[in-house]
Amino acid sequence: MKDLIIFVRGFVLKVYYPLLMFLGAFLREKRSKMQTHIIKLNNYLVRQGKYKIDKILLLLPHCIQNSKCDIRLTFNVLKCKRCGLCKIKDLIELAEDSGIAISIATGGTIARKVVRELKPHAIVAVACERDLSSGIVDTYPIPVLGIINERPSGPCIDTTVDLQKVKEAIQWFINSHQDTKQ
Ligand code: SF4
Repeated sequence: MKDLIIFVRGFVLKVYYPLLMFLGAFLREKRSKMQTHIIKLNNYLVRQGKYKIDKILLLLPHCIQNSKCDIRLTFNVLKCKRCGLCKIKDLIELAEDSGIAISIATGGTIARKVVRELKPHAIVAVACERDLSSGIVDTYPIPVLGIINERPSGPCIDTTVDLQKVKEAIQWFINSHQDTKQ
């Protein structure tokens, strides 16, 4: 069953996704909806499996940091002073309470570098539709649960995320690991 899920995810991410993005080049207004569709389909497929996971990574976009905060978090998110002006504080606490790794990436290249270095067995990723869908494709076959960010100030600045959704995704991977032990 696990191999079948990996195969179907591979087909969705490596065949279906590029086809949709090709179509999206002509239907620009539908592109974001197509990316959301891929993220949802990926999340559904990931949740059909059970995984032996020792290392979970919570991967966040840079734009979730308050734009007035000048602390450089890219290579060490724990430099955050936890003032509470943005969700980084809550997300660090959530990662610490769950015993998982947490990192911030300023773009796809840094995100790939973080994944290469940390070698997580599973990822909970937060980003916009475009970065999330391409990131899920790039990190295949690692199981990724993607959560689309919220953008009350517009794209790429002072974004936020539903903490409950992040918490639930982390817990889902933790429970999945425990299920494999039974
Ligand atoms: S919570 Fe951390 S990252 Fe956010 S504004 Fe405060 S110090 Fe900066």
